[in-house]
Amino acid sequence: MEEIGHWINGKRVAGTSGRFGEVFNPATGEQIAKVALATPAELDAAIADAAKAQLEWQKVNPQRRARVMMKFGQLIERDMDKLAEALSKEHGKTIPDAKGDVQRGLEVIEVCMGAPAMLKGEYTGDAGPGIDLYSMRQPLGVVAGITPFNFPAMIPLWKMGPALSAGNAMILKPSERVPTTAIMLAELAQEAGLPDGVLQVVNGDKEAVDTILDHETIQGVGFVGSTPIAQYIYGRAATNGKRAQCFGGAKNHMIIMPDADMDKAADALIGAGYGAAGERCMAISVAVPVGDGTADALVERLVPKIEKLKVGPYTGGDDVDYGPVITKQAQERIKSLINSGVDQGANLVVDGRDFSLQGYEDGFFVGPSLFDNVTPDMDIYKEEIFGPVLSMVRTKSYDEALDLVIDSPYGNGTAIYTADGDVARDFAANVNVGMVGINFPIPVPLSYYTFGGWKKSAFGDLNQYGPDAFRFYTKTKTVTARWFSGIKDEGAALNFKALD
Ligand code: NAD
Repeated sequence: MEEIGHWINGKRVAGTSGRFGEVFNPATGEQIAKVALATPAELDAAIADAAKAQLEWQKVNPQRRARVMMKFGQLIERDMDKLAEALSKEHGKTIPDAKGDVQRGLEVIEVCMGAPAMLKGEYTGDAGPGIDLYSMRQPLGVVAGITPFNFPAMIPLWKMGPALSAGNAMILKPSERVPTTAIMLAELAQEAGLPDGVLQVVNGDKEAVDTILDHETIQGVGFVGSTPIAQYIYGRAATNGKRAQCFGGAKNHMIIMPDADMDKAADALIGAGYGAAGERCMAISVAVPVGDGTADALVERLVPKIEKLKVGPYTGGDDVDYGPVITKQAQERIKSLINSGVDQGANLVVDGRDFSLQGYEDGFFVGPSLFDNVTPDMDIYKEEIFGPVLSMVRTKSYDEALDLVIDSPYGNGTAIYTADGDVARDFAANVNVGMVGINFPIPVPLSYYTFGGWKKSAFGDLNQYGPDAFRFYTKTKTVTARWFSGIKDEGAALNFKALD
């Protein structure tokens, strides 16, 4: 069986711990590889080498670092098919969706080609007599990226691009469920000219993460994953004095007003609810129609569309709509949450629990499910299901729908479908969620904006990618400089005072 190790100092190396994680092809249920889980000693060595490499990398001028990003982007495009194939095999998503995963990461790398502009400092000449004041952005040093299984290319690229182009070295700890893509990306970064040691990909589990969080050399931690782990990592990293931004889970609502185009709203719910088997932090998992007429019109449109969805393996051809979920445990958890919805009184309009695919009986598939008449006290409403399950909560008014979103503990994404500009504007202004779509179901901002949720969907400061990421991965140094020619000598000054 294939054994996946780490990427250290520009080479694939085997792990030494003797501990391994299992990597599956979720479509067949077969274990296809085992991934080495790093020891603290392996991390220590990788971090020490990264620290040495970073000292040289930060001296490479910003434009040359940006050129590495440019080449990196070209190589990602060159290898798009290979990356998508490897990603789908471990993750289960369809090939077009895997290409989208790579593409949305690539777009962040494209913005990092402009890193020199993002890294410019500020300057005030003659801030006082003979005094100039300027600030510069300097890299943090060695930072860590800890990433989830659901976007094996995009999220590592969100972390690597800004961190590396800002002059940091990075220890990337990808999800142990999907370890292959990150190492392939590291190989491409090396081919693009990234010096060895600047990007170390270390596979591992909690032991590796805790070593990173406690390691004195690590200056910043960028995490993406579930809310409990995000909160834990934020707390431990912050206690250890590290800069941390930790993005968590979600429960994203889409409000559908009675004046919305119902066909478009239904299509949006199908794409955002069931795409990638619902394993997206920006998936719409709660549909919130305003008025029973709106709800009935939606159910009438959704049911035939859901029944037509083709669930299958990534090798199943272009018409497969979504694939399996990531593990057997995830499959069982989703089905047990569907059971809880039935037990707690929701109306299961489409039941995906018994879905099975001939020839793939051991695959981790879950058929699409639709619940109507869900109420906020039910587990299917409260839990992030992270599966192909859409819950409908009926409301009587826009205000009731808005309050539902406002009261949700999560605040990653949300959307409204309406033809009324005033309502849309009010929603965008008043909802307490980080990313808002107006007639747009998955409002992932483009790479020159920034990505981040509110409430329990994000802990720490600043967003991912875009200008915020350059702020996160740099620290500001401000210099006050005085030159004396032509300046009256005032002798020693013992008091603070305003500058002339
Ligand atoms: P996860 O929290 O299980 O794992 C994420 C990372 O944390 C992995 O690298 C894993 O190895 C590590 N980890 C897991 N348990 C740990 C522990 N006890 N201690 C230390 N480290 C630990 O998340 P996942 O299942 O891989 O990903 C799905 C989750 O990620 C969903 O909740 C989803 O909403 C969220 N997500 C959020 C965003 C966002 O930007 N907000 C984006 C994508 C995914």
